[in-house]
Amino acid sequence: MTEQVLKTPIEYLKGVGPQRADVLKKELNIFTYLALLQHYPFRYIDRTKFYKIRELNGDLPAVQIIGRILSIEILGQKNTKRLVAQLKDETGVIELVWFQSIRWMEKIIRPGLVFIVFGKPSIYSGRISISHPEIEPYKANAITQGNLTLQPVYSSTEKLKQFSLDSKGIQCLQATLIDTVINEIEESLPDHLLKKHQLISKRKALYNIHFPADVPLLQEAKNRLKFEELFFIQLKLLKNKLLRTQKYKGNIFDKVGDKFNAFYSEKLPFELTDAQKRVIKEIRLDTQRGIQMNRLLQGDVGSGKTVVALMIMLLAIDNGFQACIMAPTEILANQHYHSIKELIGNTEGFVTVELLTGSTPKKKRRILHEQLENGSLNILIGTHALIEDVVQFQNLGLVVIDEQHRFGVEQRAKLWRKNSTPPHVLVMTATPIPRTLAMTLYGDLDISVINELPAGRKPIKTIHLYHSQRLRMFGFMREEIAKGRQIYIVYPLIKESEKLDLLYLEAGIEDISIEFPLPEYRISIVHGKLKPKDKEFEMQRFVKSETQIMVATTVIEVGVNVPNASVMIIENAERFGLSQLHQLRGRVGRGADQSFCILMSGNKLGNDAKLRLNTMVRTNDGFEISEIDLELRGPGNIEGTQQSGVLDLKLADLAHDQHILQQARQTVIDIFEKDPELKDESNQLLHDYFERKAGGISWDKIS
Ligand code: ADP
Ligand code: MG
Repeated sequence: MTEQVLKTPIEYLKGVGPQRADVLKKELNIFTYLALLQHYPFRYIDRTKFYKIRELNGDLPAVQIIGRILSIEILGQKNTKRLVAQLKDETGVIELVWFQSIRWMEKIIRPGLVFIVFGKPSIYSGRISISHPEIEPYKANAITQGNLTLQPVYSSTEKLKQFSLDSKGIQCLQATLIDTVINEIEESLPDHLLKKHQLISKRKALYNIHFPADVPLLQEAKNRLKFEELFFIQLKLLKNKLLRTQKYKGNIFDKVGDKFNAFYSEKLPFELTDAQKRVIKEIRLDTQRGIQMNRLLQGDVGSGKTVVALMIMLLAIDNGFQACIMAPTEILANQHYHSIKELIGNTEGFVTVELLTGSTPKKKRRILHEQLENGSLNILIGTHALIEDVVQFQNLGLVVIDEQHRFGVEQRAKLWRKNSTPPHVLVMTATPIPRTLAMTLYGDLDISVINELPAGRKPIKTIHLYHSQRLRMFGFMREEIAKGRQIYIVYPLIKESEKLDLLYLEAGIEDISIEFPLPEYRISIVHGKLKPKDKEFEMQRFVKSETQIMVATTVIEVGVNVPNASVMIIENAERFGLSQLHQLRGRVGRGADQSFCILMSGNKLGNDAKLRLNTMVRTNDGFEISEIDLELRGPGNIEGTQQSGVLDLKLADLAHDQHILQQARQTVIDIFEKDPELKDESNQLLHDYFERKAGGISWDKIS
């Protein structure tokens, strides 16, 4: 196979050799020809445009200009020694400055000569200058001869530069590489797709992503490679889904029986929102088809996912099955247990619900195990203690998993095996993620969204204050406490700055203790350095309203519910990511009272930080916030995505390439609809892809 050449170790490329290979491996993780080929430029310098000096300002990226050297002089001593040249065109004069290679530059740039100068303009004591520009002698007809192009810029590192592998150096290697391999590159997309989506060939795309002939071709190259990247991810995901539905039958919940109906007409204390009704309908349809359901239920904090889960569990029970809910922590499992007990009321004989966690005593466990096996227990709620092999159900029909991203794939697979026909799986998450991310991360799951809060909720009011406005914050806290409310104060605790953060926290605690002294005020303090037992104790004091203020680092659990807590104060809020801020804010707004979120920050804020805080003040919509978060941080940094290799995208960008993703996904859906086995000759390449590259599919990895 000719494409094997791409697997060649990088040291064999002409111009690399063992030493440079070593740094390429260490610095950029480039081990093979293929890896270098996929080290795409991160931007291009438009060598087709020349700026006039009058047009320059400090906000421009690197630009090129043409000008004549007026004069040069050497200024300063030792460290400040520099070569300064005045460069003039017909619109003005700027300074070019060199701190290094002064002797050398002095020889090249003689007054009177004309140069093409390339570099980033900046403002220095009120004047525009460019330091260490690239320069080349201007040859009048070279420009008109049409060798103007987009110059690729590659990411590099200090270490690489020591081996002359700056952007230019890498560009040289890319030129050699393209020369060596371009004729060996094979097309990976079927012809009918290239035609249908008007995509250029893989060879042409790879050539033009590195050495674009012009802007339109660069666009086409990017488009083609992004499509390919997203297409194969979707192909894998949807193939998994297809295999799963072919392999596993699903339990059929076709009866709507006594439990469901009784709950709906007699016990449900409120009217379901339209979104809740829609989601219940989606799940009902899904569980009637004889195909195992794997569904992600997304809904902002407080959107009412628990009652949806409960109603689906009742549906399972009506059809002769048991159900369970698995939560990531004991506190959350406890809360689910209590809220479900409350929803169904204590009516004897309606359904049986029990709790199983790490702290369930042995004796109680034995009873639980027995009840599960003889089928007298309908609903089990718990932590990962549920997964243990000793926990066997008589007929488990539905598994609800709360806060998905904390559970590994392996754990989910274990739950699957608890019944001969695998149970339906409903994964609930309160971390809204953008559609594109969901389609990529959970592309093999079906997705339901509750995008509406129950009527009558008062939206949380969010306010941004600077540290200098602390007195206002204290005053506000006193008012709220006087009304009987409770308050969270959260401090960041970030690994890289842990020591400093702990100092802030300590100073903060001291501050608060002085402003809010005993006996009138009582404070809980919770941080990661506490033993779990002490942490739990402090939390419980707050939960039971024995304390009015809880000072904490971000350890306060996702999903913890203290309805009486109506104020969330976030200190150094500029240091939190958007989704984290939104999660924290979600801790309040759970009771009937008006809730508040106060974002405290320093006076000096960067643009991103301003955008984050303004977004929080402006909206409570988690989905909108997640889109902005994605835009700001990129998919790799969105919570819960870190471990996922799926997002190791070379080129595509989930914040901006939504339409390509949609197109790729729909294309895959269409292909599988017509040709699920990829048997058709026109899909041969795709069939080969699974044979050769995916290396078979492991069942344990699918869920
Ligand atoms: P989350 O989606 O964050 O898990 P919960 O299920 O805990 O939200 O619901 C939050 C609160 O809203 C609970 O007290 C619940 O009983 C209540 N609730 C849920 N649905 C509705 C509704 N349709 N109308 C009024 N209150 C509701
Ligand atoms: Mg919840």
